[in-house]
Amino acid sequence: MADKRIRDRREYQAQFYLEHRERILRRVQEYYAKNKERCRATGRRYYQKHKDERRLYAQNHREQHRLVSKRWAQENRMERKAWTLKYREGIKIATLAHYSNSDIPCCILCGITDIDVLCLDHINNDALIRGHRGGGKGGANFYFELQKADYPQGYKTLCANCNLKKELKRRRNCALS
Ligand SMILES: [Zn+2]
Repeated sequence: MADKRIRDRREYQAQFYLEHRERILRRVQEYYAKNKERCRATGRRYYQKHKDERRLYAQNHREQHRLVSKRWAQENRMERKAWTLKYREGIKIATLAHYSNSDIPCCILCGITDIDVLCLDHINNDALIRGHRGGGKGGANFYFELQKADYPQGYKTLCANCNLKKELKRRRNCALS
């Protein structure tokens, strides 16, 4: 009898969540935005407290996890692809926005906001020294690295045109000097 009650309640809760998902998630996000530090502190405390058992669990279930996520990826190819693209796009937008000093990514020279033509420029032309080539294809990992490093200085958002013009100017100056 008690089991059935618990089961019913769980089903009801699951149903409730599905029906009000958007609202619940929005509320959680709002709460997190307002109480960021507090949430982080709680998270850290929880992590510290359960660190060992989590590690043990991960160790014992590694193979199982690998299989589950592999199967999921195979069965949900398109979803996975879409998710990855969206995730990369999000990081790119956030990083370019940061280096254009605005909410929306834009070229700091001409102001164009078309995300497809925007890229990162190394202020001191030291792309090779840093071992990176920003922007363009394969840039997602680079954007991710910058975000992870808390956006170091030395970059700015440019469009392909302004980037090219900057490079031409530099070469002209080099040829003249
Ligand atoms: Zn531009």
